[in-house]
Amino acid sequence: MASFDYDLFVIGAGSGGVRAARIAAGYGARVAIAEESRIGGTCVIRGCVPKKLMVYASRIAGDLNDAAGFGWAVGDRRFDWSAFQAAMQREVARLEGIYAGNLQRAGAEIIRDRAVVTGPNEVRLVAAERTITAGRILVATGNRPVLPDVPGMEHAVTSNDMFDLPALPEKAVVVGGGYIALEFASILNGLGVPTSVLYRGEQVLRGFDREVRDKLADALRTRGIDVRTGVQVAGIDKTAAGLAVRLADGAALDTDLVLAATGRRPNTTGLGLETAGVTLDESGAVIVNALSQTSVSSIYAVGDVTNHAQLTPVAIREGHAFADTVFGGKESFADLTAIPTAIFTTPEVGTIGLSEEAACAAHTAVDVYKAEFRPMRNILAGRDERSFMKVVVDAVTDRVLGVHIMGPEAGEMIQLVGIAVAMGATKGDFDRTMAVHPTAAEELVTLRTPSTRHR
Ligand code: NDP
Repeated sequence: MASFDYDLFVIGAGSGGVRAARIAAGYGARVAIAEESRIGGTCVIRGCVPKKLMVYASRIAGDLNDAAGFGWAVGDRRFDWSAFQAAMQREVARLEGIYAGNLQRAGAEIIRDRAVVTGPNEVRLVAAERTITAGRILVATGNRPVLPDVPGMEHAVTSNDMFDLPALPEKAVVVGGGYIALEFASILNGLGVPTSVLYRGEQVLRGFDREVRDKLADALRTRGIDVRTGVQVAGIDKTAAGLAVRLADGAALDTDLVLAATGRRPNTTGLGLETAGVTLDESGAVIVNALSQTSVSSIYAVGDVTNHAQLTPVAIREGHAFADTVFGGKESFADLTAIPTAIFTTPEVGTIGLSEEAACAAHTAVDVYKAEFRPMRNILAGRDERSFMKVVVDAVTDRVLGVHIMGPEAGEMIQLVGIAVAMGATKGDFDRTMAVHPTAAEELVTLRTPSTRHR
């Protein structure tokens, strides 16, 4: 049996890598984890966590507007970006410290360097110019934003830069129509920045339930975001006043900031994987089997670098399952069949399972139950925004195939209803569940008549 410096060498201390390293070390494996940037990865440092803090900051504007309806007189309202940014960065640094502490307590060695794979059991530390051997290598290097190939795109920022802006822009243009584009458009709008969204397709959030896409686009427009669909960006020019975004139809938009939120690609460039014999797909993603193993039996990969579902909880589950399987002696898989997810726009969207369209394509008989209502809080607030819920049911088996929610706390609701859907709950199970009154979520268990029966 060959002897290695470590049992496990993890490349990348983000959500997937940190979880795998901690759990493997807990099983007694000798673990090292290399990180060239900050501990915590995209989610903690430049993604989910600071983004959610920005979402909170942006929503306070709406709360202040609503306050008068509840009898509150609110005085001077000014948003201080620098003060918020400092608080946000303190929180990110605190979490980074917790992540590093958890790794150390578990007994994993943190190596602050870029690691490159040089063989099935070998990595090279770039700055330290040192070669290390390991029984297993786990690639957990995540992904990074990709910019469209359009002249002047170098003037655009990506979501990575949004947390470090020196000041809020006077005006902003967001290119893209996915999670990141819409979340930052909502944030900027809430913080008082006039914002345009330029999306190339016919409706934002491709792949989501059609009605939710339409309703969200309408709600964002009503909140003041200039959401434009069917728009191609032809170029970005620097002007004396800032930037000009040229559109393919000849129109132009003046702005101070262009955020390109046009998707992310796996971080495999220059990682040495192909030389070590690891097969990648055409997008550069590492191809793995259900146990996260690559084409080289000692090399594994989890999280965004595999391009399965670009979500932190998926990376965490995959990292945990890998450690259980390889070091814990219990074969484990991350179940990716029913992934609840939220888009932290304002209003928020939560979704799990099949859209109405996907359900109809896959099942012969589908019943769709819907509720649309003005949340109680909005009435005194004088806000017309309505919440929307849809439950998609297999009319043959009564099984709930999908749940789609737009409205306040949709993310919280979808997490909980997601348990029922993942368990295979039927519409009858939903109906049998007593409502919690008065809540918005009670609508999910009081939907009596299908609004559409697809046969
Ligand atoms: P998405 O894939 O969600 O969206 C990318 C958007 O950019 C799409 O609207 C796409 O259009 C558009 N686009 C792609 N290429 C071009 C191009 N060349 N020119 C113009 N538009 C283009 O990626 P995001 O960057 O928004 O986010 C990456 C992933 O991160 C998400 O898929 C999600 O998994 C994860 N994420 C999750 C969050 C959450 O859970 N709340 C929050 C943020 C990110 P088209 O639809 O036509 O392809």
